[in-house]
Amino acid sequence: MASVGIDLGGTKCLGVAMVDGAVVAEDRVETPKEGGEALLETMAELAAGIAAACGSPLTGVGVGVPGLVALDGGLRLAPNLRNAAGLAVRAGLERRLGVPVEVDNDATCAAWGEQQLGVAQGLSDVILVALGTGIGGGIVTQGRIHRGANRFAGEIGHMVVDPSGPPCPCGQRGCWERFASGSGLGNLAREAAVAGRATRIVDLAGGDAETVRGEHVTLALAEGDAEAEQVIADFAWWVALGLSNLANAFDPEAFVIGGGLIVSGEALLAPIRAALAAQLPGFSLRRPIAVLPAALGLSAGAIGAACLVAGAP
Ligand SMILES: [Zn+2]
Repeated sequence: MASVGIDLGGTKCLGVAMVDGAVVAEDRVETPKEGGEALLETMAELAAGIAAACGSPLTGVGVGVPGLVALDGGLRLAPNLRNAAGLAVRAGLERRLGVPVEVDNDATCAAWGEQQLGVAQGLSDVILVALGTGIGGGIVTQGRIHRGANRFAGEIGHMVVDPSGPPCPCGQRGCWERFASGSGLGNLAREAAVAGRATRIVDLAGGDAETVRGEHVTLALAEGDAEAEQVIADFAWWVALGLSNLANAFDPEAFVIGGGLIVSGEALLAPIRAALAAQLPGFSLRRPIAVLPAALGLSAGAIGAACLVAGAP
């Protein structure tokens, strides 16, 4: 009895098969560039193939998609997938595979994966914050996925933290992800570089302050560079600003920090914890809020998607 989870990405499509609450197989295929029905065909073949490979009958498929998912399991908005908006993912896959299909936002799936089988296993109130090019989010409250009235919950990267801040592709100004994502880190680092406060970071970027990106800060940080630590301290303040807003609204036990920036590990998490303690009203009155590194890596979304249809292990 295998449940399959699929993480549909802009370039790759990752599938995992789970039997008795454990991942027993995984496979990865290219995401078809033409989008549309080809996406459904590719996902259906991936799910059937991976279940067959582990020798178990397929009982259900969960799919994590990079966009907004409607109540009917269709995709409503997917900026990074060609010809995918409006695609009836749940209905199309159920018709092809003849098993129940659940569809959720990819970061929501990652949050569910971390809560079911990852670093937040057993915690009931958890928010996953994926710090990548933007910020992805998934919210678990009282042991259940928080989806909201339209199933659009978890778009935490678009909380406005500075109404006069830089424009965001979503149409607002000063969204949290303009400041607290990998691109936000790049902006902070370029400001520091132009002010002469990022010598090693500029070296790593090839000597030009304008070409500094977040990854150059990460590299300098790994070397123990003091100026990189200062940039990270400023960055952590912005991350903690959003976490503080989320803590005021949801009162979680833990934040799970994932996404590309988590390669910095404690060098990033420790300043975030310190900034959160300084910013969050009533911090000392609460039980400590854990700020944890995601444990499932790039598989979190696919594992969480499989858990959507596997039931609670
Ligand atoms: Zn935005």
